Amino acid sequence: MMRHENSKAPRAARTGLALACAALSLALASPALAQQAPDTLVVTAARLFDASNGRLIDNPQIVIRDGRISAVGRAGDAAPEGARRLDLPGMTVLPGLIDMHVHLDSDPSYGGYTGLQFNDRFWSVLAVKHAQQTLQAGFTTVRNVGADAWNDVGLRQAIDEGKLAGPRIVTAAYSFGATGGHCDSTYFPPSMAQKNPYNADSAAEARKSVRELRKYGAQVIKICATGGVFSRNTEPGQQQMSFEEMKAVADEAHQWGLRVAAHAHGAAGIRDAIRAGVDTIEHASLIDEEGIRLAKQHGAWLSMDIYNTDYTQAEGKKNGVLEDNLRKDREVGDIQRENFRRAHAAGVKMVYGTDAGVYPHGLNGKQFAVMTRYGMSPAQAIRAATFDAAQALGRKDVGLIETGRWGDLVAVAGDPTQDVRLLESVPVVVKGGEVVKDAR
Ligand SMILES: [Zn+2]
Repeated sequence: MMRHENSKAPRAARTGLALACAALSLALASPALAQQAPDTLVVTAARLFDASNGRLIDNPQIVIRDGRISAVGRAGDAAPEGARRLDLPGMTVLPGLIDMHVHLDSDPSYGGYTGLQFNDRFWSVLAVKHAQQTLQAGFTTVRNVGADAWNDVGLRQAIDEGKLAGPRIVTAAYSFGATGGHCDSTYFPPSMAQKNPYNADSAAEARKSVRELRKYGAQVIKICATGGVFSRNTEPGQQQMSFEEMKAVADEAHQWGLRVAAHAHGAAGIRDAIRAGVDTIEHASLIDEEGIRLAKQHGAWLSMDIYNTDYTQAEGKKNGVLEDNLRKDREVGDIQRENFRRAHAAGVKMVYGTDAGVYPHGLNGKQFAVMTRYGMSPAQAIRAATFDAAQALGRKDVGLIETGRWGDLVAVAGDPTQDVRLLESVPVVVKGGEVVKDAR
């Protein structure tokens, strides 16, 4: 070990000099900053949910140092002096929750054509509020699978810079697919010349869209394999991207180290997306036996948004959603829930994705109860929103209360493995060691 370190001495010395210079200029700018001790938060509770196996651990003590978890032990273990404390008697601590399917720049109050009364920047501004609502609901990480005008990328940058409160965001920027498909602008006549700038109608165009989106901030690629519910003149069952196009997307994205999410309701589109190498299937409403078999064989994850139909059917008409969209929503809703039950029973890997934005942001936790109604245990549903979601993202820094990961936690009174609805209103939220909500 020493030998290894010695062999790096010249380089380490250079780095040391650079650090010393940086420290010096910091010290000149702000004398207090240079002497600051690490910021430490010690959390104790009645129970900890171990998302790696779904079990509860009694009387945990978690130490978070400069934003990252530095120790997970038992109450009474030595705690660093001068640490801030968050003692949560009677409560269960869980990893910060993860929603794998949100649209932070969407607001469900404006359905159909009613959103056209606003300037484009209206949605960018609303996204700031939606991010705060999402974090307050206990969702400390989200995957934003489709935004206009790079709204999600700018929002992520502002949050990561500490300028705004919000979850960690994995950004897709624009989602894309076929001209005239679900990911295109489908509400306008030709004289209005509205189209998605990343429409792709060949394998070569699909590769180019992946490259351009990544260039400006996409961290995951989102495509539309089939028609959808809330577009015009598309049907959910209809495949809209060819196998070759989706294979080009998956190969290109994977080459750059990005994962691919495919919006896919129809059985044929789901099967081709999985065969093409897509990592997560969104909605998966009409998945058939062959699709279930392929998902297991390829290790593809299903992200099935089985709560939001309750909202869209109750509120959609009032919000201006067109009758044709509500008709498709009705046709797909119950079938999707039954297929969730079948896929889960068959052992397909599932993550927690809600399509927040189709229903109000901040209600993300409402899907837990629906997942348990359709076959999951509470612990399985919670794992889908923590450890399993982190795996589907390919991340080892979120989704589990473990040394080295971000200090992202939520706490609820009681035991969510007995009553999963406790996660519908989370009173305590910690992100990166900062207590962002304490409403006990
Ligand atoms: Zn969506």
